[in-house]
Amino acid sequence: MKNTTHERALKSVMGKLGCSEEMSKLLDSSQREVIVEIPLKRENGDIKVFKGYRVQHSDALGPFKGGLRFHPDVDLNHFVSLASVMTWKTALVNIPFGGAKGGINCDPKELSEHDLEILTKRYIEKIGMLIGPNIDIPAPDMGTGEREMAWILQAYAKNHGHQPGVVTGKSEQLGGIVGRKEATGKGVAYFTKLACLREAIELEKAKVIIQGFGNVGQSAAINLEKLGANIVGISDRYGGVYNENGLKVESIAKMLGEMKNASLKDLDIDGEYISNEELLCAPCDILVPAAIEGVVNSKNADEIQARLIVEGANLPVTRDGEDILLNNNVKIIPDLLANSGGVTVSFFEWSQNAQRYPWKPEKVEREFERVLKNAWNNVCEVKECAKQTHSYREAAYTIAVNRVRETLIKRGF
Ligand code: GLU
Repeated sequence: MKNTTHERALKSVMGKLGCSEEMSKLLDSSQREVIVEIPLKRENGDIKVFKGYRVQHSDALGPFKGGLRFHPDVDLNHFVSLASVMTWKTALVNIPFGGAKGGINCDPKELSEHDLEILTKRYIEKIGMLIGPNIDIPAPDMGTGEREMAWILQAYAKNHGHQPGVVTGKSEQLGGIVGRKEATGKGVAYFTKLACLREAIELEKAKVIIQGFGNVGQSAAINLEKLGANIVGISDRYGGVYNENGLKVESIAKMLGEMKNASLKDLDIDGEYISNEELLCAPCDILVPAAIEGVVNSKNADEIQARLIVEGANLPVTRDGEDILLNNNVKIIPDLLANSGGVTVSFFEWSQNAQRYPWKPEKVEREFERVLKNAWNNVCEVKECAKQTHSYREAAYTIAVNRVRETLIKRGF
């Protein structure tokens, strides 16, 4: 995970802002990196040892904040980069959180629900002393959702009493907020709309490809469809489907939801079934990578036909891939801005929990647009001041790094 677009932007911005070597080190490195061993006796009697992680990058602006990822390929480096992205994301949207990320190197699809519950609760037994509503607040990420947040709430309550603000992304029954689940994808759609206006792309006529049809991809697709876009391609880990006349994404998502563990290949969708690689380079105006890291890279960047890329996932474009895209004048709305809708609504949920008073849907909607619009305007202003020499990514990092640096200096060491 070294050499990412994120590291390059961070270094470049710290240089331009005149950060000293020590300040740069402070901004760049994690405050705490923890690895724990989690042995599990599975329902079938097998013993398996997992690794749990929590990386706390910065709490300069508020408690550490970031998701939990359950995926077989995760490692410490993974979480170090992802935790840092969270710091800049929360700083950019100006919510009072720092950045963190963690998870377990497991494949949830291969574990029974019972094993997964025990594993999640064991993880909290091991890292429970490092989290809390005013310390570090986990949330869903890849492979986790409302169910895992409920287990964490319960495991944490054993030693600390009922503290709904210890996690966000809970079901409403447990203190969650209306709209959190859809928020990341909805934000992706909102920023796509704003980017289209600025880049003179007609969203109503645009063909959109969404790579990844999990929580973020589905919500982005449904919300973009509502805004009038034509979703021509979608994919999951087994492959993609393409139809230049458009796919009915809302009904596809509904069908997937009704079938346990189903993937797109199990459905009878009106379109051509193609590989993930083919999908990324298929004809479209807008590409939304909404799954894992590094899918757009030096091998395929030159073949990409989209004029606009909106990073629904974290770190989906590699550094070499970005060079090629920018050279081809493809605009990229970076992850820390594009997918910030999720953590923004997490912040609303956390403040709702502190108040012990639920927010009305209209308030969530209003505040959501206010916070995201503000972040977008700030990025555009900085980009304009730099007379177009900045990418959207550099402009976003300029705002975020400045905020964290100023706060560090004010607070003292
Ligand atoms: N995992 C999400 C992200 O990468 C959400 C984090 C949160 O809500 O704390 O932004």
